[in-house]
Amino acid sequence: MTARRIDGKAVAAALRARVADGVAAFRETVGRAPGLAVVLVGEDPASSVYVRSKGKATTEAGMQSVEHKLPETTSEAELLALVEELNRDARVDGILVQLPLPDQIDERKVIAAIDPAKDVDGFHVENAGRLAVGADALVPCTPLGCLHLLKAELGDLTGKDAVVIGRSNIVGKPVALMLLAAGCTVTIAHSRTRDLPAVARRSDVIVAAVGIPRFVRGDWVKPGAVVLDVGINRIPGEDGKEKLVGDVAFDEVQHARAVTPVPGGVGPMTIACLLHNTVQAAKAIAGVS
Ligand code: NAD
Repeated sequence: MTARRIDGKAVAAALRARVADGVAAFRETVGRAPGLAVVLVGEDPASSVYVRSKGKATTEAGMQSVEHKLPETTSEAELLALVEELNRDARVDGILVQLPLPDQIDERKVIAAIDPAKDVDGFHVENAGRLAVGADALVPCTPLGCLHLLKAELGDLTGKDAVVIGRSNIVGKPVALMLLAAGCTVTIAHSRTRDLPAVARRSDVIVAAVGIPRFVRGDWVKPGAVVLDVGINRIPGEDGKEKLVGDVAFDEVQHARAVTPVPGGVGPMTIACLLHNTVQAAKAIAGVS
């Protein structure tokens, strides 16, 4: 038996095409393109790559991309002042401050300073709270991408047993809340969970967001389950070059119904959902449906 390899690139491309249609409709009605501001502090290589790809995808979708690159030595006050400026800027509908930030800057203060209406990462406590109570919210992009892939694979998720491995504010907790809202019976597993393989084995859906290569093994997965691998781990490859692997031992889970590869699974959905969130934010700010 071979598990279906979920093609995140294809699902993301379809979503990006729908976003581009939404952008065109927005321009027609409002007379300007939605705008996304991305702020990068310092020169972390992985963050720089993410920021570049986000800017490129934003422009390709027909939106206005504004990039702010600040030096590693930027103070918290300077970054907060820029966030305030972007909050006031009527051309900016979405603000994304790339994490992690240098040590002298308190991430929580920066996230709290972003106007929740422009918080396209969905990290502000107002949006996190709205997600928790089931109100309309801007929700984190990677979890939104996971739900999108699962619905594309399974359709209605009502009644499915789902386990989310990982409880971070960025992935684990929001994905669990979204699965709950979709009607799943959700278990959130983490580093203190007892007998995780047994918990995983009774699940129809497994979302792995741990950050440990090949953490989820074949005998953790029941036949016919759907496995989403959120992990992005950089390990040395056989050729000495760095390679990307997920949190799931992909070759061992071929008895699953479907599984996402790394790269090319959940990853491409994150940027597509960021673009989607930016159009949603722009429409809400402009008061158009
Ligand atoms: P994190 O380090 O904040 O959280 C990891 C979670 O794993 C924690 O909640 C911890 O309790 C749990 N954990 C650690 N060891 C465990 C163990 N032995 N057993 C069970 N649970 C354990 O990480 P994060 O920000 O949630 O990211 C998780 C992974 O997803 C990372 O590899 C990250 O790079 C990746 N990620 C990918 C995307 C994407 O776009 N695809 C986006 C965000 C994060």
